[in-house]
Amino acid sequence: MHPKPPHESPPAPAAPRHSRAGGGPSPGAGPAPGHVWLVGAGPGDPDLITLRGLRALQAADVVFHDSLAAPELLDHCRPDALRIPVGKRAGRHSVPQEDIHVLLAAHARAGLAVVRLKGGDPFIFGRGGEEMESLRAQGIPVTVVPGVTAASGCAAATGIPLTHRDLAAGVCLMTAHRQDGAHDLDWTSLAADRQRTLVFYMGLSQAGHVGTELLLHGLPGATPAALVSQGATPRQKAVRCTLAGLARAARRRELESPCLIVIGDVVALADPALVPWVEEPPAHGIGAIDGHPADAHPAVSRDDRPAASPLACPA
Ligand code: SAH
Repeated sequence: MHPKPPHESPPAPAAPRHSRAGGGPSPGAGPAPGHVWLVGAGPGDPDLITLRGLRALQAADVVFHDSLAAPELLDHCRPDALRIPVGKRAGRHSVPQEDIHVLLAAHARAGLAVVRLKGGDPFIFGRGGEEMESLRAQGIPVTVVPGVTAASGCAAATGIPLTHRDLAAGVCLMTAHRQDGAHDLDWTSLAADRQRTLVFYMGLSQAGHVGTELLLHGLPGATPAALVSQGATPRQKAVRCTLAGLARAARRRELESPCLIVIGDVVALADPALVPWVEEPPAHGIGAIDGHPADAHPAVSRDDRPAASPLACPA
């Protein structure tokens, strides 16, 4: 059965496949009729889903999936399972969040085992909290299966450790995406703690704002930064730059959404063998290019160079 386009009215729930009454299964059990599982799909590589998430997917009657979840994961669904896309896809709008709440509840009430497959981790910028609250308020049992969040996935794929005994005592996951009327972030506090790696989700279009605010609030322009686009997928692209060069680096054509911004000294440890780093042309006096030492570019002072960078964008 083909799913309806997401902007139409929610599809009517299919007939329940099971007759067993829904109970409160332990998280280790498979999805039960009348129950919703919010499953983290991981950051793009289909191998990065958890075993528990995979089992839930294999047992589900209906799967509502995000555009960020690896499409290959749907191959694990039962052949008769409904697969309903609710994320943004090329040329199509995503299903409004309120409609997703209605859909999940309606299918669970119809006695189906429902999986909501979400990119990364459901509780990290995934609106999983809102879905859980809505379902709970309607008396529908919910189980959350954690996933590998994009920060962890991109960090592993690029060789950037988010914390490090010598370089970063902590990591801060933030969203750079600002809704209309929303308060801006506390840039003073973000810029003040130099022992912390900053990771910005939903930041590609906001990279200029992020860079400017952090600079204005005192984070040094030479702080290493990276943009990782479509991380942990075969289409992964990454650019390494300095904080001062972040806005310019983010305008590179190679970088597409989804994209993560990582800022902090740990970026200097990125493994050039792991990532096809995007090359920035050596214009306006920049640092090391494609493995050549910055000393070959006398216009750059040593202090402006990110340490051990295989590639630096202009500041
Ligand atoms: N729940 C998800 C985040 C959803 S918000 C998680 O835990 O990862 C969407 C944002 O996540 C994107 O704008 C991007 O900043 C980031 N993201 C998700 N997948 C990514 C990927 N494969 N590579 C880079 N960034 C990614």
